[in-house]
Amino acid sequence: MAMVDVTVRGAGAFGLSVAYACALKGARVRVVDPAGVGGGASGGIVGALAPHVPENWNAKKAFQFAALDMGEAFWRGVEETGGVPSSYARTGRLQPIADDHARALAEARAVTAQMLWEGRYVWEVVAAPSDWAPVTPTGLVIHDTLTARMFPRHACASLAAAVQALGGTLATEAQDEGAVVWATGAAGLAALSAERGRMVGVAVKGQSARLAFDARDLPQIFADTVHVVPHADGTTAIGSTTEREFDAPDTTDDQLDAVLARALAAVPALADAPVIERWAGLRPRARTRSPMIGAWPDRPGHFIANGGFKIGFGIAPMIGQVMADLVLDGRDAIPDDFKPEASF
Ligand SMILES: Cc1cc2nc3c(=O)[nH]c(=O)nc-3n(C[C@H](O)[C@H](O)[C@H](O)COP(=O)(O)OP(=O)(O)OC[C@H]3O[C@@H](n4cnc5c(N)ncnc54)[C@H](O)[C@@H]3O)c2cc1C
Repeated sequence: MAMVDVTVRGAGAFGLSVAYACALKGARVRVVDPAGVGGGASGGIVGALAPHVPENWNAKKAFQFAALDMGEAFWRGVEETGGVPSSYARTGRLQPIADDHARALAEARAVTAQMLWEGRYVWEVVAAPSDWAPVTPTGLVIHDTLTARMFPRHACASLAAAVQALGGTLATEAQDEGAVVWATGAAGLAALSAERGRMVGVAVKGQSARLAFDARDLPQIFADTVHVVPHADGTTAIGSTTEREFDAPDTTDDQLDAVLARALAAVPALADAPVIERWAGLRPRARTRSPMIGAWPDRPGHFIANGGFKIGFGIAPMIGQVMADLVLDGRDAIPDDFKPEASF
């Protein structure tokens, strides 16, 4: 008799969230990853859980909102189950407002946010705080209260502990048993592309850095396309580059220096903070740019959870939920354009 109901291949944000959601429903799960917990993109340092702009609503934005909305309860549940902190906190976000046009746009979005975010979070135009803010020509910033942060490595450890506390096991090698969920990130997209003879998804490299700068209770900042994310441990992460072409997946170079320079120009308070870590990884991007989740076409009993791209941690709580519903109960609540067929 099988000892395992669900084998999850890949111990990143997606695989661990699926394993946790399945274990919560009572399934016996085994997570298999030769690189160990957080050995892929999920072992990084940035961890911005930030919404798309609240306008032009679509299935992806609605899915992301649902995931961000449930984030607080999800991560508290993970921490309480496994006893390991995830460093999650809903600390909000500030963005500069460059001119009158940007101000008008921001004010219009404040109105749409009220409706689309169901009155639970605000997107507002306020005077830039004097102690912690990006350089902003109008003296104003957008402040939103939906954005949260967590430390990716801690979040993976937290999820892994929760899976084990629920009776799940982790392994670097094991046979498939039961339903099989392939949450294998960039390597999985490369394998799918090779198998199908067309580009199903690609790896997009990102470089990031961590500074010794303690802003742990303050909002994160998004300015000049750079994320500045204060963490609970008194460090602040800066990210990231977006590279389709690269020589090595895990090296950092002058492209990261350019991101750091933009961060320091946008947030002068960081000027003297020492860089304590430089880190790079490969984001899994599906051909459609949407998550790629659902049953594996033509492969009964196998499922895919991939394509987290730049928002993998933000949407992980929903990925776990909809995949567990599908794998264990056959309930399919996955938007059509997220299904593997859309990228195949
Ligand atoms: C620099 C950078 C900054 C980022 N910033 C953010 C951010 O601020 N907010 C956010 O939400 N997201 C962010 N992301 C994206 C996020 O990290 C990814 O979307 C997410 O980690 C993807 O998770 P995953 O589990 O799908 O993939 P991964 O974490 O890559 O996990 C896949 C795992 O599968 C394993 N594997 C591969 N092949 C096999 C096999 N055959 N069998 C078993 N296991 C296998 C690998 O070892 C790996 O551990 C960032 C990414 C990068 C690189």
